[in-house]
Amino acid sequence: MTVRSVVLDADGTLVRGDEPIPGAIEAVDRLRERGLDLLVLSNNPTRTPADYADWLAELGFAVGPDDVVTSGSLTADYVAAEYPDAATYLLGEAGLREMLAARGVTLVADPDAAEVVVASIDREFTYDRLREALWALDGSAFVATDPDRTIPAPDRPVPGSGPIVAAVAEAANRDPDAMLGKPAQTAAEAVESRVAGRGREVLVVGDRLDTDVALGERAGMATALVCSGVSTRADAEVSDVTPDYVIDSAADVESLL
Ligand SMILES: [Mg+2]
Repeated sequence: MTVRSVVLDADGTLVRGDEPIPGAIEAVDRLRERGLDLLVLSNNPTRTPADYADWLAELGFAVGPDDVVTSGSLTADYVAAEYPDAATYLLGEAGLREMLAARGVTLVADPDAAEVVVASIDREFTYDRLREALWALDGSAFVATDPDRTIPAPDRPVPGSGPIVAAVAEAANRDPDAMLGKPAQTAAEAVESRVAGRGREVLVVGDRLDTDVALGERAGMATALVCSGVSTRADAEVSDVTPDYVIDSAADVESLL
């Protein structure tokens, strides 16, 4: 089956920290030249898709604002659709706050007023914020942006949303009611609604077995693990999640087509 669309992860796949992965910019250009439909699907919820696209474009990637979906935009869409009039307490960063507000979600600082709690990476996370989130969760819906334990950074990995969501879940002794980023069904549906082709006509490329490859596998899409980020070839050999292809980096995606 011919690949019609390529879904690309960002951190660890196109970029590492603030640097493009070698060959990734050219790889995106070549996919474009072949007329493939491209979507960047990131579990980074801290920037709006437009900001994310601007940043990728500044680095040299041929990516526009309509080519990016993040766990933040998926979460904002979900909260606005499922809890349109609910008071929402956010444990998360400014970009996510902006996306929620832009969709008309009412954000509250008072945990006792909350009806929905959104938990996400927050680089100013403190014990007091954890306590507020715990109190806000009393009788409220619990929504999490994404499960990523870490984010690849130039030097060493840094904690992602996963540990913060887990801290809240542990304090409240309950799991999130919804987790919107990869590998959730919501993220797969967002891919299907935005790109050309179905099933194995769509190739998902990413550096994490448990999010990128798992999303593609569950959705019946073709999958490629890149070894430029978190997961390694050795990880792929022992994982329950099995990529169709394992390549060194995004620079090699074209060889799969
Ligand atoms: Mg990644």
